[in-house]
Amino acid sequence: MNKTVLITGSTSGIGLAIAKKFAKKGYDIMFHGLETNGAEIAKKVGAKHNVKVAFSNANLLKSEAVEGLIADTITKFGELHVLVNNAGIQHVSPIEDFPNAKYENIVAINMNAVFYASKAAWNQMKQQKFGRIINISSVHGLRASEFKSAYVAAKHGVIGMTKVLALEGAPYNITCNAICPGYVKTPLVEGQIKDQAKAHNMTEEDVVEKVMLKKQAVKQFVPVKVIADMAILLAKESSTTITGTSFALDGGWSAQ
Ligand code: NAD
Repeated sequence: MNKTVLITGSTSGIGLAIAKKFAKKGYDIMFHGLETNGAEIAKKVGAKHNVKVAFSNANLLKSEAVEGLIADTITKFGELHVLVNNAGIQHVSPIEDFPNAKYENIVAINMNAVFYASKAAWNQMKQQKFGRIINISSVHGLRASEFKSAYVAAKHGVIGMTKVLALEGAPYNITCNAICPGYVKTPLVEGQIKDQAKAHNMTEEDVVEKVMLKKQAVKQFVPVKVIADMAILLAKESSTTITGTSFALDGGWSAQ
């Protein structure tokens, strides 16, 4: 029987690349995200790889919706082996102008939803004596950049939570790890290029060259494929002893 994976925010960007790779490897997939064509995306990927799929557009701002998403997954698939906490948002602004509502939403989606989803999945994973929780943090979970107070705080928080869940999950073969990408060219980053250009008073081309890739030793965006490959490795049965750690896929940014 196929294993089941739920990937939050899997109808766009990094999450979609991860979902496609898991489908290719024969996992059944619970797709999730706010994109209006989410159900179609899920159906297409399922048909291509001959795996079972479902789709949810639960809004992760609310704890009850996160809990509902996990319950829905277990009802539809009967099991939940791999949880990839990937959904995330960004807002770039100097702190004195940072809207409180944006701060609260970033912390709710990027960090609090990781807690609520993992908590809701815990009992199922414990009963299965198998669970793999993969949190998509960021190089900004390891390093700071100006104008990203909410995002950097939330992503650092996720790395702390990852360590705690690894310790609590160890007796039950539940592992928890974080992946920390550098810049990946997705819709989230396309939006940031515009915001950063405004915040730094620069052209969009200069933002890519002088702000974003400046901190990466390898001067290229991180390909989504690399992140998906890492997620597949972490999800393996044989990866039991890989837990509580953060994998920087950041072109050497955090080596400095
Ligand atoms: P993206 O904007 O392409 O996708 C984000 C996904 O999250 C979408 O499916 C969206 O619908 C979903 N989402 C957003 N708000 C939601 C909400 N309230 N409820 C439910 N779903 C919601 O972004 P991406 O670049 O693929 O980012 C994915 C993850 O990777 C994020 O956690 C991001 O912080 C992290 N990350 C991205 C980069 C990068 O350079 N793109 C770098 C490091 C880390």
